[in-house]
Amino acid sequence: MIFDAVDFDAHEAVHFATDEATGLTAIIALHSTHLGPAAGGTRWWSYADDAAALTDALRLSRGMSYKNAMAGLPMGGGKGVIIKDAPKTEAMLEAFGDVIESLGGRYVTAEDVGMSDQDMTVIARRTRHVSGLPVAAGAVGGNPGPSTAEGIFVGMRAAVAHKLGRHDFKGVHVAIQGLGSVGGALAEKLAVAGAVLTLADVDAARAAAYAARLGATAVDVTAITRVAADVFSPNALGAVLDAPTIAGLQVAVVAGAANNQLATPNDGAALAARGILYAPDYVINAGGIISVVAEYLGHGDPAEVARAIAAIEGRLADIFVTADRIAMPTDMVADSMARKLIGRG
Ligand code: NAD
Repeated sequence: MIFDAVDFDAHEAVHFATDEATGLTAIIALHSTHLGPAAGGTRWWSYADDAAALTDALRLSRGMSYKNAMAGLPMGGGKGVIIKDAPKTEAMLEAFGDVIESLGGRYVTAEDVGMSDQDMTVIARRTRHVSGLPVAAGAVGGNPGPSTAEGIFVGMRAAVAHKLGRHDFKGVHVAIQGLGSVGGALAEKLAVAGAVLTLADVDAARAAAYAARLGATAVDVTAITRVAADVFSPNALGAVLDAPTIAGLQVAVVAGAANNQLATPNDGAALAARGILYAPDYVINAGGIISVVAEYLGHGDPAEVARAIAAIEGRLADIFVTADRIAMPTDMVADSMARKLIGRG
């Protein structure tokens, strides 16, 4: 029964939508609108079965509630999932736009894995409750990847400072899993800052190209979680931190953009037990949503957005200090702060 599902967390609503003409099969989960409209991107992905898609939507939407609250945004949390069992066509995206429009502004979408800013433009033909649209260079909004990467960069700096007492990245060894929109931009920033990089992507040619350009080392995807380094940075898909992976990590810090990095609620404690400092995913990866929400709300000052992203560094530093003080894993400290903010504390 869905209401008893492990990941069902008193979600306000879960919408299931199909459109036979275009092959659209989608789920929109609204976890909380306590702080404002439920904001969170749409993922286009292939799932083992419908239950796996639902689990993803439930977990991701709760994560968005926590993320938006912790980023100080006037937004709740939601998430869209389009099941990749038919080609992604403009007609399908328009049909998805109709579904969003039918929710009357309770859900605001943007891009997530498998979706581009061009896709958002198509959705925007049918609804204005969409963000992450292409914007002119220098304007607020657009592809959130670079803003997310900036947040990961400053958040990782907080973690490295707390754990290693290092205040810059010179000679700090970071193993990056996934070189997409976020991981690629992050790798560039870290290279400029003097970090030593080991990179992996399922697209091995992509990893090799980044490695050649940035003077880094590329390794196979199966090896990246066991690289002896200072930081492991997951920037591919979620649930990467499970018991076997945690047992094999040879780093002091985990700090990356992937959503829902912890495979189970116990994995944050497992990391802490190994003495590995974990930067809670939804706190460190809020840069993109900060940019997207500013665009949606029409707040066009890039300096203001940059300040909000920069604040991720101090927010994480506070979580790390609190976690040490009360001897609680960092993910649990963040969850308890976030739940208070959304009125569920
Ligand atoms: P993306 O699709 O642009 O990039 C993902 C990259 O990971 C691709 O290059 C892909 O080939 C690679 N990859 C996939 N599986 C892999 C594996 N097993 N090992 C190594 N590489 C693998 O996605 P993105 O926008 O960069 O997002 C990355 C992660 O960060 C996702 O989990 C996403 O939900 C999360 N995130 C993204 C944003 C954003 O602004 N884009 C914001 C918050 C969170």
